[in-house]
Amino acid sequence: MKLEGRAAEALARLEEGNARFLAQQQAVEICRRPVAQMQDGQEPFAAILSCSDSRVPTEIVFDQGLGDLFVIRVAGNVVSPSQVGSVEFAAARFHTPLVVVLGHSGCGAVAATIDHVLGQDPPETDGLRAIVERIEPAVHPLAELVTDRSELLERAVVANVRASVSRLEHGSALIERLVATTDLAVVGAIYDIPTGRVRFLDH
Ligand SMILES: [Zn+2]
Repeated sequence: MKLEGRAAEALARLEEGNARFLAQQQAVEICRRPVAQMQDGQEPFAAILSCSDSRVPTEIVFDQGLGDLFVIRVAGNVVSPSQVGSVEFAAARFHTPLVVVLGHSGCGAVAATIDHVLGQDPPETDGLRAIVERIEPAVHPLAELVTDRSELLERAVVANVRASVSRLEHGSALIERLVATTDLAVVGAIYDIPTGRVRFLDH
């Protein structure tokens, strides 16, 4: 497939970035371990379900390197069967002891769901609807209580993280069993975009 215009430029940027990454990989903090070591396998110490938002790159905000994090990213950090399966895979295969659902301030997926709940903006496609419908149960009760839009967004982001934590904990017999019988834990956290700080919920 031949790429043109901005797509071709974007691909070139990625290629250049990867070349820089390869050239610097011994020196850059985020890539402490050499690439060649990765072929021996992986033992990620945490699985992170985070939003796709470009301002919240998981490895960078936690300052972790190659092989450290098992990352699942989807708009709105929602839990569908493939996210459950990904966490099951990390927990069962690599004995990853911690699962973090990482939401963030100003989440566009949560904001779009608020628009939908308030009847302003229905999702335009089946794909977008699949995300909004998973966030909606967390937003609904708040939309009736909170009138201030920015407060509603802030509280809905937290409620959506808690809902995803609950869906991971209880949406899989395997995860439920590992939480009960091993040291596996599922926790929620919020990344604050203006400050770069991660706040873990209930911890
Ligand atoms: Zn987001």
